[in-house]
Amino acid sequence: MTGALAPVKPLTALDRCDRCGAQAYIRATLPVGGELLFCAHHGRQHIAALRDKGADILDESARLSEPSIIAPND
Ligand SMILES: [Zn+2]
Repeated sequence: MTGALAPVKPLTALDRCDRCGAQAYIRATLPVGGELLFCAHHGRQHIAALRDKGADILDESARLSEPSIIAPND
């Protein structure tokens, strides 16, 4: 660990929700290190609590402009 801040990388189709495996649109970087990835659905469930813990949130769910994208599982 060098302590240098990693550049913010945009989420890609290869990034998957930690909860359901759908494409991730939200990344939460924890102040203690590590990061969590969420789809838009699970992101909304967890982001508020993560923000309270000081996590840095990258929310790209605004890119979800396709109306056909619906999570098949809950
Ligand atoms: Zn999910």
